[in-house]
Amino acid sequence: MNLKSALLALAAAAVATPALAQTPICESQGVTVSVDFPSGGRHTCRVAETGEVTLAVTPEGTPINGSPWYAFRLDAAAATELRVTLDYGEYEHRYSPKLTRDGATWRSVPRRDVIVADDERRASMNLRLEPGATFIAAQPIETPTAVHAWAQQVIVPRGFEAVEYGRSIDDRPLIAYRAGTGTDLVVAMTRQHPPETSGAVAFRNFVETIMADTPQANAFRARHRILLVPMPNPDGVMRGHWRWNNGGLDLNRDWRDFSQPETRALRDLIQSEAQNRRTVAFFDFHSTRRNVIYAPPLDADSPTIDLLPLLRQRLDAAVNPPLPWTFSHSETGQTSKRWALSELRAPGLTVELDDEATVATAGRIGRTVAETMFEYTSR
Ligand SMILES: [Zn+2]
Repeated sequence: MNLKSALLALAAAAVATPALAQTPICESQGVTVSVDFPSGGRHTCRVAETGEVTLAVTPEGTPINGSPWYAFRLDAAAATELRVTLDYGEYEHRYSPKLTRDGATWRSVPRRDVIVADDERRASMNLRLEPGATFIAAQPIETPTAVHAWAQQVIVPRGFEAVEYGRSIDDRPLIAYRAGTGTDLVVAMTRQHPPETSGAVAFRNFVETIMADTPQANAFRARHRILLVPMPNPDGVMRGHWRWNNGGLDLNRDWRDFSQPETRALRDLIQSEAQNRRTVAFFDFHSTRRNVIYAPPLDADSPTIDLLPLLRQRLDAAVNPPLPWTFSHSETGQTSKRWALSELRAPGLTVELDDEATVATAGRIGRTVAETMFEYTSR
């Protein structure tokens, strides 16, 4: 079962029970607007005399990276048209709107129906609604429950242990997946930043390639300790945050101070796995406005730094246009990438997918990273 079928199973219940109490934040022309569902956005709502609905898109705190997440549910009594405007305040439009009726199959709101203001501080969409529920969001919603359901179907059958390595501030379980007996460790994670689901698509393709029943994947799993962390910030995801956990911090700026329970617990888990092992690779999948890879310098002090030129070569061959690479390291940096090199001597990589990368492109990048690991570690 892929994530989509996991989502479908979960969404079926929610969408099939319209009686499920939704507390609307406003109503216009027989359509209610609500946000009280997992990953629902932080919105207030007003309705103009024309019936146009304006939703304020507000961050969980400031100052914050401009990743204005929105997600709202519209329940229409009958087929109708509705104009909805997103008001980003001092922030700018970033994610093109996606829509689902069943909670699992997402499609873009047609470009012609979306008007972004010249200063990008507002975006309006003209929606033609069917009776019943329609969800609109910045990116397809991927909740912790759905992600772990996917992991149960894809990762656990390969003999991986689901380990609760801590609890979030909201007391949600922090769950990672690990297996293997080798002395070489590979670490991969994603979704430190809640909205970055195109990075998660690449991560899942990376994982699915490693879990495949192919000679290369089977050999790789047999020879490596593997640690997979698909949901390190569940509170941020559930709360519809742009960036932070529920402690008011960007978790990928907490890998020096470790002031948050989520990063502390993850550091302890990785350290316990890395003890007496060599960390061959450390991948942290994210999303931003373009595909790009942040890497340590090629002369960095790591026994596996020569993975990077090979990976670059393989990605260049697989993805057109080729991904740009940025090589840097700052001892005072606060990202997972910096920590991986400083603490584990591993070539930590931040793999950034374009926000609007297609599933095909994100998938190809994830698969290429996995296949390059097979090649690199079998030399
Ligand atoms: Zn990110």
